[in-house]
Amino acid sequence: MEDLIIIGGGPAGLTAGLYAARSRLKTLLMERLSPGGQVLLTDTVENYPGFPEGISGFELMDRMRRQAENFGLEIQSREILQLRLSPGRKEVVTDNERLETRSLILTMGATPRKLTIDGEERLTGKGVSYCATCDGPFYRDREVAVIGGGDTAVEEALYLTRFASRVHLVHRREELRATRLLQERAFAQEKIAIAWDTIPTRILGETGVEAIELKNVKSGDVSRLGVDGVFVFIGYDPNNELVKDLLELDNAGFVRTDNDMQTSSPGVFAAGDIRSKLLRQISTAVGEGAAAAFAAERYLENMT
Ligand code: NAP
Repeated sequence: MEDLIIIGGGPAGLTAGLYAARSRLKTLLMERLSPGGQVLLTDTVENYPGFPEGISGFELMDRMRRQAENFGLEIQSREILQLRLSPGRKEVVTDNERLETRSLILTMGATPRKLTIDGEERLTGKGVSYCATCDGPFYRDREVAVIGGGDTAVEEALYLTRFASRVHLVHRREELRATRLLQERAFAQEKIAIAWDTIPTRILGETGVEAIELKNVKSGDVSRLGVDGVFVFIGYDPNNELVKDLLELDNAGFVRTDNDMQTSSPGVFAAGDIRSKLLRQISTAVGEGAAAAFAAERYLENMT
């Protein structure tokens, strides 16, 4: 039996793993892909403290993984099919095994939200993308559209100007949600053209993206914009499949916890993007991961 199983290997999970392993808890971190989480999709991280020149998302996560492993954290790449929770006993079911643990930390994160418009699914991977770092270099001297007005959309639109000849930022309101600094950079970048009060209604193309159909929500006007790529950054949905019938969630499906990361089920903690909260950052995920590991340790001490 494990003392602690951590599910998810992003910044929250790796930090929880570092703290727990360093406290000598018998800890296993399970991640369905390779550790790193969404940060791996980010080219440069410039607001994580300690790196004044910025650091690549890949390198930051590689450092976090190595640091946790140095303290003895065991990491396994496995897909979990089901969780069974009762106060004294928690089971993690994979395709070929049933593992028991005395406590759990959930750090499964969130997944990019889809537009759910015509053409999006069919053309995903053929011009429709959710990762500028992965696909940006394909659009050298081409025109692309970026959908969304938050930090991610603006940051990725700026990144895409390194390659694309023109980046059309399509936002449904007349004001961006992104922080002021990013807004200022976007306004100053000549390659970025902003389509205000506009939503995409269809993505068009046969074997690849050829155009996007746009609708002005104020005038109702429908237009067609020729682009080779459409990058969608309209927020994230929680990866709550394993726990949606087991734990208390907020209206958007994020896991509710108290200030000490305790969920509605004793001995089950949550940290990072899956948690119901205001700010989703690497720095907040890291802090919550540490807090969750400490709370799990306390919980285990009180059990014995
Ligand atoms: P977000 O802040 O939720 O913004 C989503 C954007 O997409 C909003 O502008 C929203 O419009 C728009 N949108 C939502 N649904 C839409 C739809 N169906 N059709 C068209 N547009 C739609 O998401 P995010 O930008 O991914 O950021 C998520 C979190 O990560 C935030 O807390 C953010 O601060 C953080 N983040 C921080 C950094 C950084 O600090 N460097 C970088 C990336 C992300 P409305 O504005 O009208 O709602």
